[in-house]
Amino acid sequence: MAIRDILTVPNPILKQVCKPVDKVDDALRALMDDMLETMYDAPGIGLAAIQIGEPVRVIVMDLQEKPEGADPDAEGVKHPRYFVNPEIVWASEELAPYEEGCLSVPEVYDEVLRPARVRIRYLDYNGQQVEEEADGLYATCIQHEMDHLNGVLFIDHLSKLKRDRAVTKVKKLVRSAAA
Ligand code: ZN
Repeated sequence: MAIRDILTVPNPILKQVCKPVDKVDDALRALMDDMLETMYDAPGIGLAAIQIGEPVRVIVMDLQEKPEGADPDAEGVKHPRYFVNPEIVWASEELAPYEEGCLSVPEVYDEVLRPARVRIRYLDYNGQQVEEEADGLYATCIQHEMDHLNGVLFIDHLSKLKRDRAVTKVKKLVRSAAA
């Protein structure tokens, strides 16, 4: 496994539409392992392959959910999820706001409205088809990550003013980190 560099805005690669995966094989699992390690290191709760420059429809996620009644300060139990060629097969009319962030738009957070519940279909780490319903943070996160597969970032859901401000902030951040 290896930690890979995460691309940040305004890198044009992030605007690319990603290609479906033909089959879930060892090479793809190696990519998913790298993605998970990169995401944990960042740290983040979701990462799309395009964020490390791989234009394929693959997402990893770990919402770090804590078991019921657990010590709120304790580290979450690791629960990695892998999504290959994910599709939304149903979305609720009800919308829910969530303050989103993104590893490709570091240190920027803003509220985005999305369907509160979605039904998704995807292939898992072993290439098995799964269909399930997501709500809460899971619903928000999978929709945010699936946007990446189509070259859409969460700041694209904001006003142009906010989006421009976010990109300027990230550019400055990246410049000062490199200096
Ligand atoms: Zn993101």
